[in-house]
Amino acid sequence: MLNNRVAFITGAASGIGLQIGKAMAEVGADVVLTDIDADKVEAAAEQLRLSGLSCAGIRCDVTIESDLMQAIDEAVKQFGRLDILVNNAGMQHVALLEQFPTDVFERMVKLMLTAPFMAMKQVLPVMKSQRYGRILNMASINGVVGFAGKAAYNSAKHGLIGLTKVAALETAADGITVNALCPGYVDTPLVRNQLEDLARSRGIGQDRVLEEVIYPLVPQRRLLSTDEIADYAVYLAGDRAGAITGQALLIDGGYTAQ
Ligand code: NAD
Repeated sequence: MLNNRVAFITGAASGIGLQIGKAMAEVGADVVLTDIDADKVEAAAEQLRLSGLSCAGIRCDVTIESDLMQAIDEAVKQFGRLDILVNNAGMQHVALLEQFPTDVFERMVKLMLTAPFMAMKQVLPVMKSQRYGRILNMASINGVVGFAGKAAYNSAKHGLIGLTKVAALETAADGITVNALCPGYVDTPLVRNQLEDLARSRGIGQDRVLEEVIYPLVPQRRLLSTDEIADYAVYLAGDRAGAITGQALLIDGGYTAQ
């Protein structure tokens, strides 16, 4: 389904990014996993190669434009083209607005809004020359609705959806689609760290945090799996999703239906 396609994924040493890489490789793509954590991303790539999948691991801090340029160049040199970009790297910090450190706010916006902008700038000439491209920007339900305590995360993800629409319009005639994925609560290290913080501050276990704090927000009363996000990403990255562009697609167990 993604045979002869080359996918470049940021923040892919763990969680959703890694699962998307695995899922795309399993349906035939050559996958470039990139992450700020060099050891972890190389180990992840090696794991995929051991399963017979086509995969490279590259260290890349997406907040540094020269790092991104180098990693994208390396991917194109190694595989000869670049068809799919997944802007996935992210982080979380929770604090009330008046206590939110400005440097953390700026770092998070750079990571989850400026970095996708810089990556798209880099790959668009390649995709336009191929007259084919699929860009997936990892937004969130927090790009669609507000959440107290998440000033930077919400700002970056709302901005990323706006940027997605602009990029979609600018590339609509070039065989390129640009969409934002908006997951709800997915079981990854990022969410587990949040659960652990909440559990510690309340003096209860993670299971009780899920039951008392998270599940009341999610009609399906569960955490989503990385597979559920990856399956959707694979579909959007394929030829058959060519009409879908400029969308913010929710995968949230009913969170935003309320
Ligand atoms: P995760 O913590 O498992 O993975 C994030 C990865 O990003 C890590 O491997 C980390 O090393 C990498 N990273 C951090 N800073 C980086 C940088 N400067 N350059 C390159 N890589 C960097 O988290 P996850 O839950 O898999 O989240 C992935 C994406 O999905 C994020 O953008 C997150 O906001 C989004 N998301 C997650 C959820 C969820 O519930 N887990 C929900 C909605 C959206």
